[in-house]
Amino acid sequence: MPPGDAGSGYYPARVIVDLDAIRANVRRLAQGAPSAAVMAVVKADGYGHGMLPVAVAALEAGATWLGTAQLDGAFALRAAGHEVPVLAWIYAPGAPFAAAIGADIDLSVPAPWALIEVIRAAREAGRPARVHLKVDTGLGRGGSFLEPWTDLLHAALAAEQRGEVRVVGVWSHLARADEQGHPGVHAQIEVFEEALRRADAAGARLEVRHLANSAATLAVPEAHYDLVRPGLAIYGLSPFAHRGAAEIGLRPAMRLEADLALVKAAPAGQGVSYGHTYTTTRETMLGVVPLGYGDGIPRHASNVGPVQVAGRRHTIAGRVCMDQFVLDLGPGGAPVAAGERAVLFGAGDDGEPTARDWADVVGTIDYEIVTRIGSRIPRVHVGSADGFGGTGVSDVTAAVEVPLPDQEATEALGRRLAGLLRAGDLVVLTGDLGAGKTTLTRGIGAGLDVRGPVASPTFIIARVHPSLVGGPDLVHVDAYRLESLDEVDALDLDASLADSVTVVEWGEGVVESLSEDRLEVSLDRPRGTGTDPGAPDPGRVARLRGTGPRWSGIDLTGTGVAVGRVGEQADPPADVR
Ligand SMILES: *Cc1c(COP(=O)(O)O)cnc(C)c1O
Repeated sequence: MPPGDAGSGYYPARVIVDLDAIRANVRRLAQGAPSAAVMAVVKADGYGHGMLPVAVAALEAGATWLGTAQLDGAFALRAAGHEVPVLAWIYAPGAPFAAAIGADIDLSVPAPWALIEVIRAAREAGRPARVHLKVDTGLGRGGSFLEPWTDLLHAALAAEQRGEVRVVGVWSHLARADEQGHPGVHAQIEVFEEALRRADAAGARLEVRHLANSAATLAVPEAHYDLVRPGLAIYGLSPFAHRGAAEIGLRPAMRLEADLALVKAAPAGQGVSYGHTYTTTRETMLGVVPLGYGDGIPRHASNVGPVQVAGRRHTIAGRVCMDQFVLDLGPGGAPVAAGERAVLFGAGDDGEPTARDWADVVGTIDYEIVTRIGSRIPRVHVGSADGFGGTGVSDVTAAVEVPLPDQEATEALGRRLAGLLRAGDLVVLTGDLGAGKTTLTRGIGAGLDVRGPVASPTFIIARVHPSLVGGPDLVHVDAYRLESLDEVDALDLDASLADSVTVVEWGEGVVESLSEDRLEVSLDRPRGTGTDPGAPDPGRVARLRGTGPRWSGIDLTGTGVAVGRVGEQADPPADVR
């Protein structure tokens, strides 16, 4: 529920944020800038996606810094427990610098007034401020131009000598990195190089030099330096006017959808919404979408905004109002009713509109479309919990967690799982020695009604448990020393994998080489519990996730296998809160 919403928590619309997409995008960006660390820019509440879950996902995928414009966001990241370096760069005189220094927040210093206030605050806080000196290399916005910046540099280094600041970084921002090959980019890099030479000559001991936004991270390797600062691309949107997200290997993470509030028949010639800027040309069905400019839907989208309902694209009919707008769903009793889902934008699958489509029709950029979506619309974060290391497979079901306090619970989970399994299925178990992999398999065997006993497969590679009831056999594999499942087929077992349920006990990290269709079950210690042998056994947590077409669309929470979705448990991972 958005902050300050003391109402019912009900809203007929939602923003769904795909954290797996965020993770994949961050990995893509990190691969493209191998020499640099990645600062995930999560300003403006993570470009409207929800700052805290995005931050967790970005860090899981390899980002090691976080960047916020406003100090407020930086404080919120610290309050959430993040200990990585966090840089904030927007404030005005009178900002709570001492508190920021106390919270170990890195501060951009763009001008003398800021250095003076930061030094004073550092004395108050009793510890040096970590500062990044911002040089305006040509954007004509924040930072100091090169000559006054050089004075700022010397003043900051003098303060460093006195123990008041630590000059951690030199940084700048590009004006036209999205315009490929534009000479302005190189002109800015040259000024930046000069600033770095001056810092070096003055004896600065910098940790990081940084210049690249998303566009430069993707397209200007010379601008990578020690740290890149992508924002937009993390969210799966393209910074380039003429290249879409898919073309550059990104997946949009945000989807905005609403439930139709009303569907009704209207005659030909009916004016629609304020000012009657749209008139029906035939008998038709009108649908009311309960979102408006109070939710951040641009009023400029009146008569042009694209919306998909039941697989068909429509254009907004008439003006966008504060809380609603209308669609002309077409004649012939459109097969939709109130409650039907309307998708304003998403990843672009199956013809759904994208944020870029909205930006194009209202004459803005997709940055603005996603960022302006009102905080009163609930954010729903979906995606696998961590613990799977990201297999890069599409069609991944949301992960669920099942607490396993003891062996009975583990075996019971196996029995429930058996109810879901059918011939040809592959279950991959990971977990350290003693985690309960064989116990879980024993439960699956009991649920499938196969001949026992199920025992650890170590040293036998694979054991067949024939069905006692004419169902699928259970093939129990210790794949520790196997390269691929083909070797199991080559063992000449008394069963074919296509007619069996195959359970593979596998070491961590090699599941990628298996079939795309698989149910992964990892057995882990609960978060935050140590391995102190003297401590009481904390039990385990099973994390379940299906991948591939076999499992796509299967909501594991609805199968009776998992008791509660991740996030409903006592101590859920932050990314699903
Ligand atoms: C917003 C911002 C970024 C990220 O820019 P994108 O174009 O979204 O990648 C990087 N650095 C600074 C200073 C910013 O303000």
